[in-house]
Amino acid sequence: MPQTELIPAHFRDGACRMAAALRDVDRVLVSGHVNPDGDAVGSLAAAGHILRSLGKEFILYSSTGLPQYLQFFPLPGTVHTSLEHLPFTPRCALLLDCGEPQRLGRELAQRLPGLTSLNIDHHLGGDGMGSLANWVDPEAAATAQLMAYVALAAGLPLKNELACAVALGIITDTGGFCHGNTSANIFSLCARLVEDGCDLTGLRERLENTWSMGRMRLWGRLMERARLERNGEVAFCPVLLEDLRQCRALKEDLEGFVEQLRRLGGVRVAALLREDAPQLCKFSLRSYGDTDVRATAAALGGGGHLNAAGGTLRLRSEQAAEVLLAAINAQLAKEDGLSGETR
Ligand code: 5GP
Ligand code: MN
Repeated sequence: MPQTELIPAHFRDGACRMAAALRDVDRVLVSGHVNPDGDAVGSLAAAGHILRSLGKEFILYSSTGLPQYLQFFPLPGTVHTSLEHLPFTPRCALLLDCGEPQRLGRELAQRLPGLTSLNIDHHLGGDGMGSLANWVDPEAAATAQLMAYVALAAGLPLKNELACAVALGIITDTGGFCHGNTSANIFSLCARLVEDGCDLTGLRERLENTWSMGRMRLWGRLMERARLERNGEVAFCPVLLEDLRQCRALKEDLEGFVEQLRRLGGVRVAALLREDAPQLCKFSLRSYGDTDVRATAAALGGGGHLNAAGGTLRLRSEQAAEVLLAAINAQLAKEDGLSGETR
């Protein structure tokens, strides 16, 4: 029995559409974005549980695999990292939390034209990626929140593993219920998850208090290196491959560090620049309130949300730093100009 009355009115139509679309497909390849975070993995898991309950065959896929810090999380199947030698030939792709075609990964992007596809996401843009149906709603804090509503529309109770999968996505994308996207709907949904036995605090414990010494050393080093720009409005820190090697840390040990940069009083934009290869850097931006880092990231070919965005720059670290800081400055100057006009 669908439990549509438990779905907030704003999300009801989309949830029912996607639940109906899932009923009509089979042999589904489920994928989140490359280098998946907790929302991509939570959504992947939730999709698997939903498809299993609907009696569908499915394959979980992530070209870059799961990061080590999420490997404790139980998933409803093996995560395939290649589209070769799958247990069956998929007919449909379910794309989750991807934002834009580039974030599918090359292998899946190439295969996609031969598949029907469904797309569920909370990023702006990318809403034409699903050939069969799209549900892209930036009002959702997490794609896993949308998956919870799909489950309810399909008549599935938010219990056990499905509830934990939803919780993983929500905890990740709300920054543990701290970011501006932590709406009343999020609290209502999580209240229901907790009532039904989901151990939210236990999940946070597993996610947050399992640091390695490598990570501790790396964060210490980077905190010393962090610097302020634009009269203290921008906090910036570059990370080199050498840092990871010397600290014996992994790339994923940087998860959460950019949020630390934003802790400095007066900072409007926090920026972390990570060297991934000698000519390739990944940047992460964070802000609060109306300060738009998505626009800055988009100007550099990336994307994301108003207060959390990122992208890559095919430049050496020092050049990338200049380009990134100039783009941040330009966006802040534009916003200052706009607020000056309305004063
Ligand atoms: P993070 O800084 O944690 O890697 O990413 C923050 C947000 O920025 C993510 O939720 C994602 O939406 C977006 N993002 C990060 N990297 C990219 C990118 O290369 N391209 C696009 N379009 N979005 C990105
Ligand atoms: Mn997400």
